[in-house]
Amino acid sequence: MRFDIATLFPEALDFWLSQSVIGRARARGLFTAECHNIRDYAFNKHRRVDDTPYSERQGMLMQCEPIYRCWQAICDMTRSQPHVIYMSPQGKTLTQQRCVELAGMEHIMILCGHYEGVDQRILDKIVDEEISVGDYVLTGGELPALTLVDSVVRLLDGVLAEPDCFEDESHFCGLLEYPQYTRPEVWQGERVPEILLSGHHANILKWRHEQALLTTAKKRPEMLEDYPLTDEDLSIITNGVGNFDNKKI
Ligand code: SAM
Repeated sequence: MRFDIATLFPEALDFWLSQSVIGRARARGLFTAECHNIRDYAFNKHRRVDDTPYSERQGMLMQCEPIYRCWQAICDMTRSQPHVIYMSPQGKTLTQQRCVELAGMEHIMILCGHYEGVDQRILDKIVDEEISVGDYVLTGGELPALTLVDSVVRLLDGVLAEPDCFEDESHFCGLLEYPQYTRPEVWQGERVPEILLSGHHANILKWRHEQALLTTAKKRPEMLEDYPLTDEDLSIITNGVGNFDNKKI
């Protein structure tokens, strides 16, 4: 899988894409990520890429031409037409389900806006999809782009040790993850749940599912509206979460 990221701050992105799990996966060639400085495609001597908005609003807007040239260069260089994502607070909020779908794509270009955003005409021309990381506004699309790449890349083959590293995690199957514990067995008088020390695989799996249901019911009950609850699940939730309003789900 290949990512081409168009940004005004390629060094900042490159640094984060070289760290930890994602950095190792990149170094092992499990995915490719190239950061492109949109300024390199400016056609004026000061490499200026922005100008004031016609709407008489304060601030600066990124211009069409440098972004268009950057997109063209990426298409020419890779001899492919990438799926173009503009990171935007106006886009659909990123979900785990969308990450799984994007992980199946061959080539994604991500456009990071900055300042007041981007001239609408270039968005209409090259962008296939706008994605938001939440209903709030950041100063630039760089952190959202990193969020997108990280959340997609960790789903690729070989990036994490085993698929169940992410299949058991929050959101993958519509529930939040069960509580996790590590050594020591007792910390400040608090013991790890006995069942996790039993070595009984089937009981541990059952405990994990029950705890995932209870955690979701307590922290994000609205998620259960879309989860296919069995009668047994319902009774686990009703017994386990004292004030849980069963009628809401
Ligand atoms: N004026 C724009 C608006 O109101 O929709 C916001 C521009 S924002 C200050 C600058 C850039 O940050 C955007 O072009 C976008 O690339 C990025 N950005 C800001 N918030 C974001 C979010 N929640 N999700 C994804 N990208 C975001």
